Amino acid sequence: MLVDGKQISPKAQCLARNREFAHHEAGHAVASFLLGEGDAVKYISMLAMGKRGGCTMSSGRIDPFCAEKWSLSRRAKGYREVFHSMAGCAAQSKFESWRPNCLTMLWDVHKHAATPEGDDFELAWKGAEFAQRVADGRGTSLILEKIGGWADEVFDDPRVWKTTTALAAKLKYGVRMTGKDACRIMRRAWGGDETIPIVALDSKWIRRFYFIPRRLYDEAVMYGLSNFQDEIHRA
Ligand SMILES: [Zn+2]
Repeated sequence: MLVDGKQISPKAQCLARNREFAHHEAGHAVASFLLGEGDAVKYISMLAMGKRGGCTMSSGRIDPFCAEKWSLSRRAKGYREVFHSMAGCAAQSKFESWRPNCLTMLWDVHKHAATPEGDDFELAWKGAEFAQRVADGRGTSLILEKIGGWADEVFDDPRVWKTTTALAAKLKYGVRMTGKDACRIMRRAWGGDETIPIVALDSKWIRRFYFIPRRLYDEAVMYGLSNFQDEIHRA
């Protein structure tokens, strides 16, 4: 492996790979944190398993057996799932200065290192199908492209990137971190007390993930965002 034109030792290579994986897993956790789902992160494991460098376990995202009918909240859930699945590669590609975009990286990893238990690309694809209710290759890829752009964009925000690097710095190779500890580190680096951190960014993020304009947001939070989405849908 060449870094800055110099050959680096296998040990240094290994350390560099671990830093990439740490930023990848931190990216997933930060995505949950930003969307106010930080509590859903159960743990982040930096134990290499097969071809993957680690994993971030979350609960309470898409329930494949949920009978929820077509609604805006279903669509928003699908979008959030896609965003979460793509955030690992988005953070990793920013760390590696690998760009052009996380979707290319996601696809590359999927082609070369797909694991039997699935990978980020498959999860993102599932989320996109969930969002639009139908299995439709074209619609699904359009959603992946759109949300892949959002995932790349969000990590370019200095506050988001600071939170990501703060968490990645604490992720040690071969060690598992509890979701509670991860949340504490992210909250401290973020520094705000917003219930849903992404709301502190440009107001377009509220439209993107909650399908409501900024001016309705405070009211929506007061009554519970998910109820509000259903209200809008019925209206
Ligand atoms: Zn991942």
